[in-house]
Amino acid sequence: MSGSPSKRSRMPSPPQDPSRQASMQYYSSTDTGSSISSMPPAGMSPDHAMRRVTEYSLLDFKPELNTSSYVNVVQEREEQEVALAGLRINLADQTVYPGSFNLHNDTVNIVARLWNCPEPASFKEYGCFSGAGTVGSTEACLLGGLCLKFRWRAWMAQRGGLSKKEARKLQPNVIISTTFQAAWEKLFKYNDVDPIFIAPRVGCFCPDPEDIRAAIDENTAGVVAVLGDHYAGHYHDVAGICKVVREVNAAKGYQVAVHVDAASGGFVAPFQEEVPAWDFRLPEVVSISASGHKFGESCVGTGFVVWRQRENLSDHVAISVSYLGGKGESFTLNFSRPASGPMVQLYKFLRLGTEGYRTKVRAQMETAKFLRDGLKAMTHKGLPRWIMIDGGDSGCLPVVSAYLNPALKLAYDDIDFQHIVAEHHWYVSAYAMSFHHPVEETTLPLFSDAPATGTMMRIVVKSNLTMVLARNLLSSMTEAIEFLDGASEGYLDLHGTRRGKGTQHHTGHVC
Ligand SMILES: *Cc1c(COP(=O)(O)O)cnc(C)c1O
Repeated sequence: MSGSPSKRSRMPSPPQDPSRQASMQYYSSTDTGSSISSMPPAGMSPDHAMRRVTEYSLLDFKPELNTSSYVNVVQEREEQEVALAGLRINLADQTVYPGSFNLHNDTVNIVARLWNCPEPASFKEYGCFSGAGTVGSTEACLLGGLCLKFRWRAWMAQRGGLSKKEARKLQPNVIISTTFQAAWEKLFKYNDVDPIFIAPRVGCFCPDPEDIRAAIDENTAGVVAVLGDHYAGHYHDVAGICKVVREVNAAKGYQVAVHVDAASGGFVAPFQEEVPAWDFRLPEVVSISASGHKFGESCVGTGFVVWRQRENLSDHVAISVSYLGGKGESFTLNFSRPASGPMVQLYKFLRLGTEGYRTKVRAQMETAKFLRDGLKAMTHKGLPRWIMIDGGDSGCLPVVSAYLNPALKLAYDDIDFQHIVAEHHWYVSAYAMSFHHPVEETTLPLFSDAPATGTMMRIVVKSNLTMVLARNLLSSMTEAIEFLDGASEGYLDLHGTRRGKGTQHHTGHVC
């Protein structure tokens, strides 16, 4: 027995492994002063190597106080164990991991049913809906965009009697709001797709379907509708966009399709009864993408893309793979990936169930309302302090968005506000009302009716933001405003917190 007195009294033998021995010299370590810029000539002990790796994250900020991003920060112990188990499994190797690939398919099936995808004809053959687990929404958006492009080329080839080779030279356009997320910048830059941007009105964030009607031409492969505009949480009018697309297609003989970028809303809207049909219930919607690590609540970066069917859609990007005793398909940009993503997502689906997601979404919407009401109640010289621009108390993401009332002619803007709130360890995001054109490399106004120099700010209510935290955030914001008022009235010195106007423009890269 290791606990017997005789064994305990025995002197421990000195460590045999010389690298282990070195690890005991914590304070006399010789490499603490060195930076890591090339591979060290000799190895080091496991615990020392681990320390050198993990010390980087000491320099990160507190993710729980970050309301500026959508990245989920709530993780359960069991979920972390599931994630670790998944790290060993490379989904590319379907010969060795057919079981894990089945798990991937089951997870995709749950997502497809959540979005009301009709069971495709190929379901029996493949045992799953046409879709894939991805690294995140970016990969899912790229895949959706590529299928729109290849589908359009097939149509152009047929229409103009072109060969496949000739059709490969044709470049389509995709219509999207100026408030697009940077994932789409990758589609336009990497995949030779021309963007057509529609600028919405300030405070609306949703492109007017009539503007989309005017923009559609024969080179239009598709329209992207966003379910959960990342700036302020609005759901685009997917039904209105589909109606316009249907009418144009009928009048002109086009076959324009709609992709719904539901990065955030894909795991919120299905649990909000008030939201009208936005998904595969609308016939023009051919594909939908979402992130698991946003409101899907996964602790690892995960995403999903689901196509309505295989034919003339996902088959354009399918690479068939065969494995022991079966056949399968790969749709993703990369073959190799850990199984952690779909495994953790399945864990979350089972853990929360429909009722769990519904309760969670309701609580987040209530917390958002508390913060929104708090901002609405703030006044200055008898005028509202904030102009609210988010989607309101229902039918949108749990996001609060506003900008400082220009009528107050304040000496500071929303970006200054963000910096002062950060002094309280809280992160809110502030942006200029401009965007970067990915092809022309110019900076343009985000809205049709507001100057590019305007600013705004946003708070994302994630599932960790309890009322205790939300109260503190609201008082931190109140104090930040008091500080900024005091500073601009000359009581305090801003110490250089004031930034040049227009220096911080929107990059769209908001995760
Ligand atoms: C976050 C987001 C993306 C990109 O998602 P990742 O999962 O970070 O790749 C794309 N579109 C929208 C609308 C988003 O909010």
